[in-house]
Amino acid sequence: MSEQRERAVSPAVRDHVDNYVGGEWTTPASETSQPVVDPATGDELATVEHSTVETVDDAVQTANEAFEEWRQTPVVERVQHLFDLKTELENRLDEIATALSREHGKTIAEARGEIERGIENVEVACGMPNMMREGSGNVEDVASGMDEHAVRQPLGVFTAITPFNFPAMIPLWFLPYAVASGNTFILKPSEKVPLSSQLIFEAVDAVDFPDGVVNLVNGGAETVNTLLEHDDIAGVSFVGSSPVAKHVYETAAQHGKRVQAQGGAKNYAVVTENAEVDDAVPNIIGSVYGNAGQRCLANDVVVGVGDVYDNLREQLIDAAENLTVGAGVDEETEVGPLITDDSRERVLGLIENALEEGAELVLDGRDFEHPELDGNFLGPTLLKGVTTDMEIAQEEIFGPVLCLAEAEDLDEAIEMVNSTKYGNASSLYTESGSEARQYKYEVDAGNIGINVGVCAPMGFFHFGGRKASFFGDLHAQGEDAVNFYTEKTIQIERWYS
Ligand code: NAD
Repeated sequence: MSEQRERAVSPAVRDHVDNYVGGEWTTPASETSQPVVDPATGDELATVEHSTVETVDDAVQTANEAFEEWRQTPVVERVQHLFDLKTELENRLDEIATALSREHGKTIAEARGEIERGIENVEVACGMPNMMREGSGNVEDVASGMDEHAVRQPLGVFTAITPFNFPAMIPLWFLPYAVASGNTFILKPSEKVPLSSQLIFEAVDAVDFPDGVVNLVNGGAETVNTLLEHDDIAGVSFVGSSPVAKHVYETAAQHGKRVQAQGGAKNYAVVTENAEVDDAVPNIIGSVYGNAGQRCLANDVVVGVGDVYDNLREQLIDAAENLTVGAGVDEETEVGPLITDDSRERVLGLIENALEEGAELVLDGRDFEHPELDGNFLGPTLLKGVTTDMEIAQEEIFGPVLCLAEAEDLDEAIEMVNSTKYGNASSLYTESGSEARQYKYEVDAGNIGINVGVCAPMGFFHFGGRKASFFGDLHAQGEDAVNFYTEKTIQIERWYS
């Protein structure tokens, strides 16, 4: 365990952002830095330095040097570190949740929930001995006296580049699988929320992975591009907005790397006349306004089919206007602030544009002011009369805004769902099996919820997206993760004596 890390903490939130390379905490050499800001108060929590090309190179060399020995460490020993990491993360859950809530703004309950989903991936990766057996195999006597085997082998150094909206969960979609399968790993977290990773890496440090197996570098676009172009990086996992996902996919591929790049989203929910509306409404509210709408699975357009619309609209307005807006760390808060003032301005711009295009505000959160806090708040907002030709019906909102639309029948609703360039998720509310089947069959999205508004796959399933929501073929988590992080090698052998 590194000894340099005994520094003041007040309370739970670290006031410094270091890299973690070769088992040591180090302050990155940097020419650029930026503040880490509490979005609920505007308070500066810390400064994050952007690692230079040399600093990144040093981290990659360190991870590369650690690879051979780590690869030779039996998989059953490798996963013992993950069993320990699970315990460390569980013991630190409250502390990480507080830091996460402070730097991101989401509620403590949401922060705890995402850390738990991250830990779930550590648990799944503990099964790596068995996961590596899947897809491997032996056939004796493929020719006379000749046997053939398929075995999984790790590839080297992997990196994961992650977004701001799930600062604890998303790094843990990658780290456990990459290292359990015998690779070494470098995390580059979002520079907007680097503090959660500081605490996660304190847990990593406590677990005593061999030096250089698990590393952390902080920084922004230049740091990312250095990783994408580095000769000794074998593969890249990315989660973030679609334009950056496409850039990462293309650049990493041009440099001969494996790459999986999850992008942005635009998700619709459809409610039919066969739905249990009273049950659907709280579910939809959680999907749209949870995490202040900053979730790639948020269904920010809700289509009411036929006669269900009026009742649905009234119930949604009633539920949305009763949500409590505030700092994530305050217990009564249900909707936290947006990550930056720029994000808030962008969402306000989308609302303005929707109004110009003919949508109507039925709940207006634009002028929300917190009585005590000067944060990036936006009150729950609800627009009706949204149609698929509007910008707000096609672009990701990433704010607490619900767009209501109408369709005459399910066929028309499905056409609306499929009208966007994205394909991350979609939900249907119905009690009709045949409607559910049609929806699952015809909707072009990677994650479909039936009466479920946030259809986030468990760690033992892959997290899929389609169209502009995903670049690559193997997704995060589960079986796809082991396929991404290993190469299946064929070995054919014959012995003469
Ligand atoms: P972002 O694309 O701005 O940043 C993501 C990462 O890319 C960060 O680590 C950042 O440092 C890096 N980056 C940013 N600009 C870059 C550039 N020009 N060159 C190289 N690297 C760059 O995304 P964000 O705002 O942090 O996250 C929100 C987005 O992530 C939303 O679009 C959301 O839908 C998406 N997201 C998708 C999923 C999914 O599973 N598909 C999950 C979570 C978030």
